Amino acid sequence: MRDIRAISAAAALALVCAWEAQAQSKLNVVASTEDLASITREVGGDRVNVIALARGYQDPHFVEAKPSFILTVNRAHLYIAVGRELEIGWLPPLLTSSRNAKIQPGAPGYLDASQNVRILEIPTGQITRAMGDVHPLGNPHYWLDPGNGRLIAQAIRNKLSELSPADRTHFTQRYDDFDRRLAAAEKRWDAIMAPYRRTKLVTYHRSWPNFMERFGFDVIGYVEPKPGIPPSPSHTLDLIEEMKRQNVALIVAEPYFSLRTPQAIANQVAGGRVLVLAPSVGGAKEVTDYIQLFDYNVNLLAGALKQAAGK
Ligand SMILES: [Zn+2]
Repeated sequence: MRDIRAISAAAALALVCAWEAQAQSKLNVVASTEDLASITREVGGDRVNVIALARGYQDPHFVEAKPSFILTVNRAHLYIAVGRELEIGWLPPLLTSSRNAKIQPGAPGYLDASQNVRILEIPTGQITRAMGDVHPLGNPHYWLDPGNGRLIAQAIRNKLSELSPADRTHFTQRYDDFDRRLAAAEKRWDAIMAPYRRTKLVTYHRSWPNFMERFGFDVIGYVEPKPGIPPSPSHTLDLIEEMKRQNVALIVAEPYFSLRTPQAIANQVAGGRVLVLAPSVGGAKEVTDYIQLFDYNVNLLAGALKQAAGK
């Protein structure tokens, strides 16, 4: 009896050690946003533990850095940032406080996901404060083009393979599978959007240039007078006039802005309507991964335009 107990205790200990070794062989990845975390899960599968810091329903420019974030980042083997100064207000002090040399910018454990993607709105000439919260490195909301999602996945595949060379084949196969599913989904989205190409609309913040370019919509104005600057009465009046002049009815908003001004604008134009889209994975309850992000937005947008056309 005693022997059996001793053996089973030893077996249990061996099991625990095996579990720990397995857990340790996984890469701990921390990503700024749920979009980057989702793509990392697609490529990394069971070889990575992934945590996102910002929730998809939060404004990613302004994330409250919780104390728990420091410990999370301290244990990371890899940090993946959106870059282009999206996180300039909260990430640099967090990385410093984490005291983790492996994931500091420039170190092998830091990946700026924007390096090889298509970036829009890179300003030319001098940037002044009067221009609002303009990003000198271009528009940082680039993940809203699935083509950029593919490029982000490639960068993540390369980085994971560099950090864990033994799993290179695993990452490559998972990337190839994601690439195939994304390409199939793009065909589906293009077909749904085709009847509505060149529709003019307004968006609250400049979150959507990549999305609108990809699916062929024309953004004619913004509820914000300048990026990051709240609506003002004079700008709102100008925008209403412009929407009337160009016969524009649809306003796309992000879930973290008050809908008061967009709704007031919509009430002033014929057929006016406000549509809240998900700017990130987690931006709506049903959006739990990167491909669903586009399924959700494409279907919502096409549904609203179909309804408008039917009137
Ligand atoms: Zn922005």
